[in-house]
Amino acid sequence: MTIDTEHFRAELLEQRERLLGTIKHHDIGNSSLIEETGELMSSSSDNHLADTASETYERELDEGLEEDAKSQLRDVEAALERMDNGSYGTCAVCGKEIPLDRLEAVPWTTLCIDDARKQAR
Ligand SMILES: [Zn+2]
Repeated sequence: MTIDTEHFRAELLEQRERLLGTIKHHDIGNSSLIEETGELMSSSSDNHLADTASETYERELDEGLEEDAKSQLRDVEAALERMDNGSYGTCAVCGKEIPLDRLEAVPWTTLCIDDARKQAR
């Protein structure tokens, strides 16, 4: 395999932390949503000043996209599993290698660009 999996593993682990943080803020058994929202507001302005990219990303997720965060987390974890079993970087549909520039853009993808386009509506 020619893919630098350690590079992508680091990307995926970082992404997973980010998603877990987003999901945790929202999904706490719906018990103290107002409290959490207040905490989320203050922590996002206090703690992420240096990281505007991820803050923008989290703000987008905050706008009703929690389900997307969860499904993306599943994709990220599946990608980490594929790294462990050696199938990372190959298309789940046609089995061809996924181009590196696509993996750079979407490290958790399971599909080559052709199959991704076929699945998009
Ligand atoms: Zn394919």
